[in-house]
Amino acid sequence: MQITDEHRALAREESEQTAARGAMSEKNAARLRVIREEDRIERCGELRFASALASVIVTPDNLARLVGRCSSDQSHLQRRALKLAWFIGTKGNRLGTEIATPGDVLFLSALTRDEETMTDAQFAEAWRVKKVFKRTESGQPAAKPCVNKGCGRGEGQTRARVAKAGDSCSRECRNVVKAVMTRARQSAKPAWATA
Ligand SMILES: [Zn+2]
Repeated sequence: MQITDEHRALAREESEQTAARGAMSEKNAARLRVIREEDRIERCGELRFASALASVIVTPDNLARLVGRCSSDQSHLQRRALKLAWFIGTKGNRLGTEIATPGDVLFLSALTRDEETMTDAQFAEAWRVKKVFKRTESGQPAAKPCVNKGCGRGEGQTRARVAKAGDSCSRECRNVVKAVMTRARQSAKPAWATA
């Protein structure tokens, strides 16, 4: 195991506490060390989870999968995903920022007893999501980034979302990609071919 500054700080804290309270039994000290190590591992796990969350593209299927992964209960995943989407789309909670732990995902997607028993139409009306699921003009879920790496037509000047990998969001982006490919082809040609 790597001895980090954190470990040293913990050990120091522990020995100070022990000195302050008189001799702590060997058994208690060992138990405390185990608890602290578990806390540390949990914190690392949460950080990794938050950064993985930040890369989830918000689509109904992706959110349903996310809720399913955070929960031992696999019922009503689509409804729970819709409720989570409402907190993302309407309340502005971001995956990886405000929503950062499996507990956050579970909390924001938990259904009340009424919500479990109402019809799909009633549920959809109660948790209507207007903006969060991006769709292309043809109505497909927009889940992939525009093929133009410099595209800034998406929200917050990020890459716009398209239905399939390799699609472009606009004529302009299509032309940019075409120009890049043409340049790449030309520079790959030997000098005598262009001379
Ligand atoms: Zn684009």
